[in-house]
Amino acid sequence: MKKRKFLRGFTRFRLMLTLGLAVLLPAAALIILNFSQLRSFDRNKVLEATIHRDFQEVLAITEKKIDKKAYAMAEEARDVFPSPDIDSPEKEKQLDLLLAKYPWMAHAFVYDEKGIVMRSRPEQMGDKYIREEHDRQAENFRGWFGLEAKLLVQMLHKKSRPINFSSDHTKRDGEPAYLLTAYFVLPQLSSDRVVLGGVTFDPCYLKGTLFPQALDEQVNQRLSEQSGSQIAMMIYPAESEMAHDLKPLVATAGWGDGKPEVSRKFDDVFRPLALGIKFQGTSVEALGQTLMRRNFLILGILTLMIIGGLVLTKHIVSKEMALARLKSDFVSNVSHELRTPLALIRLYAETLELRRISTPEKKQEYYRIIRKESERLTALINNILDFSRIEAGHKEYEFRETNIAELVSNTLDSYRYQIEQQGFAFAATIDPDIPAVRVDREAIARALVNLVNNALKYSTDEKFLGVKLYRANGSVKLEVSDHGIGITRREQSKIFEKFYRTGDPLVHNTKGSGLGLSLVRHITQAHGGDIVVESTPGKGSKFTMSLPLASAQQNNDPASSGTSPS
Ligand code: ADP
Repeated sequence: MKKRKFLRGFTRFRLMLTLGLAVLLPAAALIILNFSQLRSFDRNKVLEATIHRDFQEVLAITEKKIDKKAYAMAEEARDVFPSPDIDSPEKEKQLDLLLAKYPWMAHAFVYDEKGIVMRSRPEQMGDKYIREEHDRQAENFRGWFGLEAKLLVQMLHKKSRPINFSSDHTKRDGEPAYLLTAYFVLPQLSSDRVVLGGVTFDPCYLKGTLFPQALDEQVNQRLSEQSGSQIAMMIYPAESEMAHDLKPLVATAGWGDGKPEVSRKFDDVFRPLALGIKFQGTSVEALGQTLMRRNFLILGILTLMIIGGLVLTKHIVSKEMALARLKSDFVSNVSHELRTPLALIRLYAETLELRRISTPEKKQEYYRIIRKESERLTALINNILDFSRIEAGHKEYEFRETNIAELVSNTLDSYRYQIEQQGFAFAATIDPDIPAVRVDREAIARALVNLVNNALKYSTDEKFLGVKLYRANGSVKLEVSDHGIGITRREQSKIFEKFYRTGDPLVHNTKGSGLGLSLVRHITQAHGGDIVVESTPGKGSKFTMSLPLASAQQNNDPASSGTSPS
């Protein structure tokens, strides 16, 4: 009693454990993930804002660095700039020397009370477009300074670095180019002198050297500092953004195309230009989406796990419950089956002992009943013992060279009287020419007895028992058929399971343990064969055991025995 309670408790514990592991654990994970998923909508925004802030910083630093470089170059030129107080040819000569010294300069000029002297690189003056650019620049500055030079000089003297920048559009090799001019007051002159010097940066130098170097330096620095997606940067005319036609002036490798994630307009030296930055090959939005997709994928997998867990649990629970029910039916069936023959044996034995029987025929009949009932008991106990050996994996078979036709005939003979007594028409067809096969005699006889007993038990109106033994397709077939209650198609696959009994009312009222067919199947499989059933409810059933001839004949050692493949 205690043991049963313990077993039930253990089964419940196993169920709870399965439930916990297969259902509750993924469910809890799912809930937690769902929560964090909801929060990650915000987190994506936080991530986006953090990246944008970081990008803004990178752009601000880059602008500062480029500006610093431009200031430094202009300052260097200013320090060695020619004095205005020399005659024009000398000024031209000095400016030419300056241009020769600094290859990044396209034009250089001095403006004073007498006018403007502008020089350009002699090697470029052959280009008509640059010559025109020279003339246009000289004209523009002459006009502008003529009006505002005094004011400009005053303003410049107030600055810590007395340099200003002005920009213009131009062209190089037919392409639009950016022209930057630095103008300044000269260091050696007093503040009341209205004199301005200026140098123009060569557009090709800006595009080919200054900008790319600054951008590359920034990208590489970032690469060495941070892992993850690599960045790309570019410089473009700010007004092209308004026109929705972004044309990069300079871009680092991996820019591809598309809009910058974050942009920043230059607000000092390179005023009409803007800086842009983004991730190479992806965008912050795409990164967020990837994150989201991954979360949804995990969510989907977990959901599937939960559903799978639920299905599995349901399966296990119903199987366990069915088995528990079968076991309890088995216990009551077996006790019933044991009690009836024992009661009969005791009753008849007592009657004989009291010598109340007068005729020898009656005595004989009582002896026969006692023998028959004890045989039934033996068969039942043998079934149970066999079953427990199989369950424990200890069942052993003793294969011996056997004349199977003789074995079947002898087994049937000891039942013939009982069969006929019960009013059964009995038809046995046994092929006498079957070669000897190696079988466990006792096991095969037990299997046959189980099948015959079932045919007798589960027949009602039409009482017929047919047994056939024949050879077909390299195997020996043993067929047991009846015209009894039959088995539904759905239950045909289950009757070979241990403890299983069909739902037919006749079966319910008939004694049985539900072990017979599971033993028959085990015995057949241990012989390398199989068993099948053909049945129609209300018409009858046919069980066919097939034992392979070849494999049985191969093993010729008469005394060999083996453990069953349970
Ligand atoms: P039992 O001790 O109940 O006879 P078995 O394992 O021998 O156990 O059979 C399992 C079930 O299969 C039976 O309870 C019965 O429902 C069904 N069955 C077996 N043989 C027959 C048959 N010849 N005709 C109809 N039903 C059968």
